[in-house]
Amino acid sequence: MARKNDNNKFKKPMVIYYVIAIVLVFFISFYLLPQVSQEKAMEEVEEVDYGTFLAMVEDGKVDKAYVGDETVDFQVGEGKDAKKYQTTRMPDERLADRLYQEGVKFDRVFPKEPNYLLQSLLNFGLMLLFFIIVGQVMTRMLARSMGGKGGVGPMSFGKSNAKIYDESTEGVTFDSVAGQDEAKEALTEIVDFLHDPKKYARIGATLPKGALLVGPPGTGKTLLAKAVAGEAKVPFFSISGSEFVEMFVGLGAAKVRDLFKQANDKAPCIVFIDEIDTIGKKRDGFSGNDEREQTLNQLLSEMDGFDSNTGVVILAATNRPESLDPALLRPGRFDRRIPVELPDLGGREAILKVHAQKVKHDPDIDFRAIALATAGTSGADLANMINEGALTAVRQGRDRMTQKDLEDSVEVVLAGYERKNTVISPQEKKIIAYHEVGHALVAAMQTHSAPVTKITIVPRTSGALGFTMQVDEEERFLLSKEEAFNKIVTFTGGRAAEELIFNTQTTGASNDIEQATKIAKSMISRFGMSEEFGFVAMEEVTNKYLGGDGSLTVSDRTAHEIDLAVREVLQKAQMKSHQILRENIDALHAISNYLLERETISGEEFMAILKKTQGEDPGSKEEGQEE
Ligand code: ADP
Ligand code: ZN
Repeated sequence: MARKNDNNKFKKPMVIYYVIAIVLVFFISFYLLPQVSQEKAMEEVEEVDYGTFLAMVEDGKVDKAYVGDETVDFQVGEGKDAKKYQTTRMPDERLADRLYQEGVKFDRVFPKEPNYLLQSLLNFGLMLLFFIIVGQVMTRMLARSMGGKGGVGPMSFGKSNAKIYDESTEGVTFDSVAGQDEAKEALTEIVDFLHDPKKYARIGATLPKGALLVGPPGTGKTLLAKAVAGEAKVPFFSISGSEFVEMFVGLGAAKVRDLFKQANDKAPCIVFIDEIDTIGKKRDGFSGNDEREQTLNQLLSEMDGFDSNTGVVILAATNRPESLDPALLRPGRFDRRIPVELPDLGGREAILKVHAQKVKHDPDIDFRAIALATAGTSGADLANMINEGALTAVRQGRDRMTQKDLEDSVEVVLAGYERKNTVISPQEKKIIAYHEVGHALVAAMQTHSAPVTKITIVPRTSGALGFTMQVDEEERFLLSKEEAFNKIVTFTGGRAAEELIFNTQTTGASNDIEQATKIAKSMISRFGMSEEFGFVAMEEVTNKYLGGDGSLTVSDRTAHEIDLAVREVLQKAQMKSHQILRENIDALHAISNYLLERETISGEEFMAILKKTQGEDPGSKEEGQEE
């Protein structure tokens, strides 16, 4: 998808170039040039009729004549003072005799002979011009598609010698990359090698030619590669895999060749290939994408071809390592694999701090609290949050970002902007409020469940009509069976409230159902958490770094049994949430009404009302009555 968009982005101006070039050529050849030669002819030659011509010949005035098919050109006088005439030729068999008698130098002229020469010269010139223009356009296209700055030398005929891939890494060092300590450590050796390749050569050690950075999108793979170049102070050549596989067959391979030629000239340097899976996909022999295979083959042969001691290091990034062609991963190619995972709590805090340095902010912002609330987000998300926070501060006319700005921007990045002017009917608003409080109450009434920190019924641009935020007090790495089940129960809480209070079911629960089902299925088929099936893997996860889709690896019959078991778990969860809400119906009403009034309430407000209603109606917390 992204590739297509990119394509269009630079194709539009290209078309304009072409049109301009073609219009120019036509204009010159059909309009300008003939006009010029006509003007030239007109300024010197006088037209006379045939009779006048004959009279002038007989008077002995004519010195030279050129007899053509249609016209006769003749000249009176010699050299600089010569005056030229032209007349239309008549059928006149005796013309040659007459001219001879009068001593006129004459010659039979093949009508367009001098024009032929001129014409072919002209054609050649035009063709040359055309090729130059096309060449320019093509190089520009190449340069552009490779993300370079497009500076192109004259007369380059489609092949560029300019440094179109070179990118500045000014100021990017390992300090710019927060967290990712293991990845940095693995890359330190490469930096050292680039500093002094000879040190390695002297001992006879060879470094891997390439390293593969593997991890989910936005975790800083590109940033790490840049930091390696920045640390080693070497040029950084960057290109995305998808840029190799577009436009014309054969161009991809040519680009690879060109890239490596430039890299070799600039060694030591870093060559970074983003999204290498687009060219490095397994060659299965079915898809028959010639262009891609040619490109991959060229890449493989270039990697084999260069001497690793020259100091060219190739870094590549992918989030689909399982789809790569094994040939790419062979020793001598990308044999070093560096995982770049989503940041943990400490990593997130560090990333927030690195990016917060760039904006003015309150000195006492609690970045750890923000990091806790953003489990599962990537470095790119976190960078985005800081920026959103700063934008909020600007929007509100303040000169620095506050904790509140940052908290709001977390929601903006995770759930979208608030849509304050969406009109929702009072009845629907009420259902949404009870739905959200249903989640919150069920969560609060269970042990092994993260505390509720915020409930809101302000609709979001992501389409959410409201949400309940739960934040763990510490980073969690494991999920127990009880916690997994309680999570499902919490997901069913919204629908349970709808049913209990309004005796209805709404589409608002669709996302809850999806998530709850996903967890229930994973519990059974991946985590061995059901008594019925026990300790057995029945699902395979593909695309680990892109959401992780699971596909069952069992017989149809077992699949059917799994479906039944999933349904059973969900039913049990629904029963439990119904029970919790029935037991706490006063709290459900009280909190929902409060939420309807305020639209957004904090975890503390929520707990305060809950405690108050529990004081009046004690003993409904179901401590220890888990199954
Ligand atoms: P990837 O190549 O893994 O998809 P990028 O390197 O392009 O991700 O990261 C996108 C942006 O996210 C970076 O420009 C940077 O601002 C931010 N970012 C990601 N990870 C980190 C990190 N570990 N430290 C600091 N910034 C990060
Ligand atoms: Zn819900």
